Order: sequence, then structure tokens, then C-alpha cells
Amino acid sequence: MNHSNIVGGSTAKRVMNCPGSVALVQKMPPQPSNKYADEGTLLHNVIAEIVMTDKHPEEFLHTKYNDEILTLDLIDNKLVPALAALDVIDPNKEMEIEAETRVGFGDLLPGVFGSTDLIGRIGSRAVVLDWKFGDGVAVEVEENPQLMFYAAAAMRTEETKWAFKDVEEIEMVIVQPPQVKRWVTTPARIAQFEKDLVKAVKLAQQPNAELKTGDHCRWCAAKPICPQMTGAVDRALKTQVEAIDVQTLGAYLVNADMLEDWIKDLRALAHQILDSGASVPGYKLVAKRGTRQWVDEFEAIEWLQRQNVDPFKSETISPAQAEKELKKRKLALPDDLVVSVSSGTTLASADDPRPAVLQISSHLRGAFFKLQ
Ligand code: SF4
Repeated sequence: MNHSNIVGGSTAKRVMNCPGSVALVQKMPPQPSNKYADEGTLLHNVIAEIVMTDKHPEEFLHTKYNDEILTLDLIDNKLVPALAALDVIDPNKEMEIEAETRVGFGDLLPGVFGSTDLIGRIGSRAVVLDWKFGDGVAVEVEENPQLMFYAAAAMRTEETKWAFKDVEEIEMVIVQPPQVKRWVTTPARIAQFEKDLVKAVKLAQQPNAELKTGDHCRWCAAKPICPQMTGAVDRALKTQVEAIDVQTLGAYLVNADMLEDWIKDLRALAHQILDSGASVPGYKLVAKRGTRQWVDEFEAIEWLQRQNVDPFKSETISPAQAEKELKKRKLALPDDLVVSVSSGTTLASADDPRPAVLQISSHLRGAFFKLQ
């Protein structure tokens, strides 16, 4: 999918809050696609064809996008609930629809465009609908900048402007199976949004456009090079090193241990409350990622062997496992067979029985300066 390198639907919130991010993001290499993005594109492509052709979802079984394949699972858990949501919004099937359309602002904002999932019209109401197939962050619909961007752009695009002609209301819909979120707004609100967008794009074109942090930073590709981010880290480190004496730092570390325990207990308590069926505002319990297991291990071994697949793997046991076995035979593990390799350093209190690690790099640096 082609994206505007200035601002599109999914980046509207960031650009309107942080105009300086446009120039920074343009310096970043294109972000590689991933399994989840490809799955989302596959589902968007298929659902657009379904709503425009009235074909049955199963006719698209095994459709591919990059390495992602449309499975029955995706049809049942994503496409069918998303299509059912459409029936709720348009129960009498009277909505005129335009799906998967590139919309933009023409000469008002050259190079600014996006791709709408669905633009529709029922009576005197225009509909702007976005499918969200990811399982991650729940997206709110009210004052959603992505949907307002699509509405504003669609009002200026030949293929979609018919849906907004003389409407009194514009309904924004986010379908994130199994949820459907709806918000009705007015053409006047979208006109105001467009003004704000134009202002942000103009600010973004200034050489020292403002960089402003906020929750819009979450999806910003420029985070690794953003002075607001690196500056914040540097400043925090500098303050700690220069302004905090080591006595205070030691005291802070004790507090950090306590704080870690407090956070752990707080999470455990919330889990316990939710587990008991009560609610904690803003939180819920979800299943951990499942790991596949054999239903019947012996049956699986037999089946794999029939397919000429060796179901067993052999690997060297660890020194600890060897020691356990040798102990049963009253034998000791020779020292010269084993070496202990540390994976790095960790912070410990001064009374920890382990010896302190010699900081070789700083000692070498010190010696080097003496030699100069
Ligand atoms: S990380 Fe945040 S502050 Fe920095 S450019 Fe991106 S949006 Fe702006």
C-alpha cells in the first residue's frame, strides 16, 4: 500500500501534535513489513472485494498476500464478525458503498492522501468506516483523527464526495471484531479538523518545526533519532550523574527495590481481583499465548515415523544435569571440563557475597591516559 510521506490517516494524530516529526520520519529507512501487517492487508483486500461484489468469504479461502494465507480461522474470527457489524450499521442493506479508495486533498494539500476502507451513505448520513483487524490496542472512535482525516479527504475526492453531498451527519465507525464503535459528528466538525490539518502541514514545512512528545510518539518511526527522545534520555542520565551524589543514588536504589516489589504486588492484586470476576477499570484478563502440544504423544511419534520424520532430537546435557547423573554414580565432574561464562553484569547490594566485577574498560582507559 502506498502511503503519503507527509501525513496520511494513520499518521494524522502524530503530525497534528508534533509537526516536526514529518521531517524526521522522512529521514528514516522504510519500515519493513511484518506478519501482522501482511495479515491486516490480506484481510482488508478480501473484505473490500466481498463488500463490493457480495461474494461469500469462503470463496476467498487460501487467498495470499506475501506469506500470509486466508485460513478458515481468519474467516470465522475476523471476516465474519466484521461483516456482521456491517449488518448492524446497515440493517436494511440500503447503504451505497465505495470500498478501498485513495482519497486526498488535491491542491489544498498536495501529496497528502490516504486510503479509506469504506465510504457509504444512508439517507442524509455519510458513513466513514475503518476495519481494524489487529488484536492489539483497542481504538477509540470519538474524535478519532484517522477517521476525520478520511472524511475530510473523501469530501474532496471525486470518487467519494457524492457520499457527503448535503449530509447533516457523518457517522464514524470502527469495526475491531468483536467490537463495533460508532460516533456521529457533523460536516462543520470535519471542516474544523481540515483547518487544523492544513495548519499542521504548514508548520511541518518550517525548518525548525516543533517536536512535541505525547502518546502519539508510540507509533512514530523517528523515535530512535528524535532529539526529544534522545534529549530526554541524555538529560535524565546527566542529571543523575551530575546532580545526584552517590549517597542519594544508593538510597534511591533501595527505593527502586521497594518500588519494584510494590509494582509486582499491585499487578498481582489486580490480577487476583479480575480473576475473582470483579472489574478493574481500564484492565482485563487475556489468555497468554498458547503453545501447541501433542494430543497423544505416542500416536504423534508413530505418525511422524511413518512420514520418515525423526521425532526425537538428541542434545548434550548441561554441566548441572551431568553433575546430577554423576552424583548417583558417586563420581565428580572434572573441573577442566567446565567453564563458567557470565552473560554480563548485574546490580547487587554491597553485602552480596559475590565479588565485585573489575571494570576492565575503565581501568584500561585510565592506564592509556597515563601513558599519553
Ligand atoms: S518521537 Fe514523538 S516527539 Fe519525536 S518526532 Fe516522533 S512524535 Fe515527535
